[in-house]
Amino acid sequence: MERQAIVSYQTPSGQTVKIIKHSFLSIRRWPVKRVAFVAGLHGNELEGIYLCHLLTRHLRGLQTSQPEAFKGEVHIYPAINPQAIATGNRLWPFFSVDMNRLLGGENGKSLPAQIAGALLDDLKSSANIVVDFHASNLHLNEVPQIRIIDGFHKKLIPLAVHCNTDLVWVHPPSPVFESTLGYNLNRAKVRALIVESGTCLRLNCDFANSLFNGMLNLLYQTGVLVPAEPPPPVEHPLMVQPSQVALLQSAHAGLFVGHTKLRQHVRKGDTLGEVIDPADGDLLQKVTAPETGFLFTLREHPLVYPGSPLARIAIKETDLL
Ligand SMILES: [Zn+2]
Repeated sequence: MERQAIVSYQTPSGQTVKIIKHSFLSIRRWPVKRVAFVAGLHGNELEGIYLCHLLTRHLRGLQTSQPEAFKGEVHIYPAINPQAIATGNRLWPFFSVDMNRLLGGENGKSLPAQIAGALLDDLKSSANIVVDFHASNLHLNEVPQIRIIDGFHKKLIPLAVHCNTDLVWVHPPSPVFESTLGYNLNRAKVRALIVESGTCLRLNCDFANSLFNGMLNLLYQTGVLVPAEPPPPVEHPLMVQPSQVALLQSAHAGLFVGHTKLRQHVRKGDTLGEVIDPADGDLLQKVTAPETGFLFTLREHPLVYPGSPLARIAIKETDLL
């Protein structure tokens, strides 16, 4: 394994901060393909950082025992926003900017904008395929899923099916995505998959293990890694578009109390939880499944206002290819 700082900078008090990339090079002069894993663009999303640890640990062992398995290259960027990660914050500290909204336009010369640009350039020169790991915010818990912008789906779905996520969700394009790392990589013809899993500031080992198997399978299916034992087979994800997703929202302000578990098939009418009035002891809203389907989002934060999302159910599958 090679370890390299793609960028380093100084803090006002004189410490040097490095953004690290770990590389596993190919035994071939011309690698089959080059895959990169990126985590920690948002410093409070820890699932991807843990997943990068699992991948690095596994690949280090494999490189020692079976160096011939590396037909392609793997690059791991485990902690892209190190100072935000150190304090568990989503945004780049001091500037308070979202590092995943700094690309593709006129973003000035601030330190985070320069580093976002350097990361994009480094990925473009290092990888044909990038997987960028994210978690949800504090309000929601999400099953492992890949989010794809409509228009890129024909190139990305053939890769996404190997990643062992429960769901692949294809969204219509929106200007809000145009400054993200994933969008700018896909525009530059580097195929980028955006993974969303769990909730921020928490780790879910079941989700991480599913994704770990999925990433090994992706490396195997793309020919990057050909170990003596192939990785275990993975499940085919549900494919959905927004019209096939039922969103449940709170009609009141109060506390949401969940009465179900995420990542399961629910039937129309099943109780998912309730919204209560904590002061007066009233039941404000019984939350039931409006349709039969797969429960893939569930509220984590109990405080709700009218319109707060409570759950999402994938109600139908679609053929997107
Ligand atoms: Zn994120």
